[in-house]
Amino acid sequence: MTAANGTALFDLDAPAASRFDASEKRLINCHAVDVNQLMPLKYAWAWEHYLNGCANHWMPTEVAMGADIALWKSGALTPDERRVIMRNLGFFATAESLVANNITLAIFRHVTNAECRQYLLRQAFEEAIHTHAFHYIVESLGLDEHEVFGMYHAIPAIAAKDELEMALTADLLEPGFTTSTFAGAQTFLENLVGYYVVMEGIFFYAGFAMILSFHRQNRMKGIGEQFQYILRDETVHLNFGIDLINGIKAENPELWTPEFQDHLVDKIRHAVALEIAYAADCLPHGVLGLNADLFREYVGYVADRRLERIGLPRQHRARNPFPWMSETIDLGKEKNFFESRVTEYRSGASLSWD
Ligand code: FE
Ligand code: MN
Repeated sequence: MTAANGTALFDLDAPAASRFDASEKRLINCHAVDVNQLMPLKYAWAWEHYLNGCANHWMPTEVAMGADIALWKSGALTPDERRVIMRNLGFFATAESLVANNITLAIFRHVTNAECRQYLLRQAFEEAIHTHAFHYIVESLGLDEHEVFGMYHAIPAIAAKDELEMALTADLLEPGFTTSTFAGAQTFLENLVGYYVVMEGIFFYAGFAMILSFHRQNRMKGIGEQFQYILRDETVHLNFGIDLINGIKAENPELWTPEFQDHLVDKIRHAVALEIAYAADCLPHGVLGLNADLFREYVGYVADRRLERIGLPRQHRARNPFPWMSETIDLGKEKNFFESRVTEYRSGASLSWD
């Protein structure tokens, strides 16, 4: 069975391939193996990311919010501190569903490989959990839900980031879109770079640093803990995305032209500018020892790491002004980083954070 645009949904009309060589599997445009045949596995990395995601399972409602509620209602936070928190809740509250929509509506059907689809199903649920976290925080603190969930339209610095992403999803939803043409396959790769590298790899990181700064000061620790769990999940999302991008490049090297590389670098540089503008909007006067200049460095540093991982040249040569972020990220769960009972979900898979 083939969709109007030629992509395999589940290819019942394909010649029966009850025995196939795993080497015939392809990440996109696979015609030899149907998408329900998980085993034999070819892409062990995809299965490993799936297992890591499952081992990290958590639910937002397991995080205690009492201290956050007391502090939020006490009036002890300054207007600037409240602004940082509100802006980041506003960005993440809807960004998580943009990612989920892109997976389920745009990416999933074009990834013609069972082990990657297995991961994408897990990731989609994690994005639902992340959206749930923002529902839970808004409800716990008694925030204005229209304000938080409306910021992606109302706050220009947030809208600019989200518009970049939504345009990438729209490209794949164009009638007749297919990855079987050269231009279509490049557009698909650009979507993956835009979501895994830019959205989850760059656009999330200024917010992570801001919220975890509160956590380091033992303030708003419930929100901080939710963000730690989200950051841990996002690390796996990013790693899967980079493996998928590099895998598609390896199978289709003709797509990775110098012009296309330049185009992606320009896109990422533009994204960095949007993220710096977002950080400046969150921190108009600087709080918690954070200011927009530090974020200029940090976002450049993060972007360079992402660029290198997909084989593109570094652009910013910035230092990391928040070395504690990598310490936070690199902490193993066994070091009592996570304090609630979520550890019970873990089944022993080891995980390295990016
Ligand atoms: Fe997420
Ligand atoms: Mn994600």
